[in-house]
Amino acid sequence: MALLSGLEEGQNLPRLMDLYGRVVRKLRISVTDRCNFRCSFCMPETPAWIPNDSILSFDEITRFVRVCSTKFGVDRVRLSGGEPLVRKDIEKLVAQIAFTPGIKHTCMTTNGTYLAEKARSLKNAGLQSVTISLHSLRPERFEKVTRVNGHAKVLEGIRAAKSAGFVNVKLNSVIVRGYNDDEILDFATLAHDEGFNMRFIEYMPFDGRKSWQMEKVVSGDEILARIAKKYRIVPLERERGSTAVNYRFEDGAGGEFGIIASITRPFCSDCDRLRLTADGKLVPCLFGDKEYDISPLLKDDRADDEIAQFLKEIVRLKPPGVESLIKASAELKHVRAMYQIGG
Ligand code: SAM
Ligand code: SF4
Repeated sequence: MALLSGLEEGQNLPRLMDLYGRVVRKLRISVTDRCNFRCSFCMPETPAWIPNDSILSFDEITRFVRVCSTKFGVDRVRLSGGEPLVRKDIEKLVAQIAFTPGIKHTCMTTNGTYLAEKARSLKNAGLQSVTISLHSLRPERFEKVTRVNGHAKVLEGIRAAKSAGFVNVKLNSVIVRGYNDDEILDFATLAHDEGFNMRFIEYMPFDGRKSWQMEKVVSGDEILARIAKKYRIVPLERERGSTAVNYRFEDGAGGEFGIIASITRPFCSDCDRLRLTADGKLVPCLFGDKEYDISPLLKDDRADDEIAQFLKEIVRLKPPGVESLIKASAELKHVRAMYQIGG
């Protein structure tokens, strides 16, 4: 109990802080780069997969989480991918992380295809919330971008998440001009009428095929303006470190929606996350080209203090972020594809 009560006072722990004073509070962990979909804004037509023997084991991932939580007070973990639910026995990893001392929230971003089978076991394993990607409400259109016949399965997965007891199920939609921007109001109506928490995401230059163009980005402002034509909306206070600005409907109906304007209005100045790829590369910034291999330390079972020292050095080097590039009108780089990093 002494250990746990110490952690509840997390403030007493030293923090992972960068040169700009930003503190890491959340981990985003890609558990695999494999996926049953082939979304055109996320991966190239023929993805280069990480070799199986380079993928971190559940114990190595959990070790990383434990060092971050017990040494530095990091308390939130999001599992992502690739598609996290294609990793065998993912529930075991969820349980290991959820029961790691100091971890207060374990959540997942998934394409939803396997939720009909797995929602309940994930909930029982300790997963606290789930975000499901849904880029179109029209099956043919959805299948055009994912290149898989899976729309009905995803809808089934969304229902399964609700009936398994996940509250505040979030739906992510990447808005790409000419693909699904004519569905913005339909998505808003889904939030209004059916109580979902809808998240509109600006298209980022991580498609792995270099076909991203600024013209295809529908800005958060434009998304908001389109929704405001039909609904009266009220902004909510932004949570510290959140990439989203959230809104509710003035008439008090239904759910909420959020806008993640990573291109036109990024919140790099209070970014509080650190990313780990499936093969053990630490990525301090999604828009940066630097990554640092922590896998040798995890695989060789080195002392926690050595891993902690490495983490401190890497986080110190975190670049200021995309905000400064946009201000300088610098060209955004296609650094890596989204399936390789986990969004
Ligand atoms: N496979 C899961 C899924 O699709 O939800 C998790 C991994 S996916 C890489 C994580 C999130 O990144 C998803 O919500 C996905 O829609 C989003 N995403 C993928 N490519 C993107 C891009 N180029 N720009 C913005 N978001 C993107
Ligand atoms: Fe797979 Fe998710 Fe990327 Fe689509 S966005 S290809 S579901 S990892």
